[in-house]
Amino acid sequence: MSAAKHTPGPWHVHDGDNRFLFVDSQTKGSVCKIAVNGHSEANARLIAAAPEMLELLKAMTPCPECKMRGIPGTQKFHWPNCENCIRAQALIDRIEK
Ligand SMILES: [Zn+2]
Repeated sequence: MSAAKHTPGPWHVHDGDNRFLFVDSQTKGSVCKIAVNGHSEANARLIAAAPEMLELLKAMTPCPECKMRGIPGTQKFHWPNCENCIRAQALIDRIEK
């Protein structure tokens, strides 16, 4: 398993002046900010949940579709005939490249 290159979660969202600020809950440092638009509040909640969703996805073995476990010690999905495994691993690889 590779070390995360992103700021570890959980992240908290602060509603600021025409923007949402994402803060690392441990260091209180700024992670990022987005400008306000029509969907900003929903987008902010989704973005703030991203680190936890990634960790949950990596922990979801055995795969609920094919019941295969990932590669031991790697948290990688590993079943080339299962669309869920392929999509899950592609998503993790895209995030952690
Ligand atoms: Zn699977």
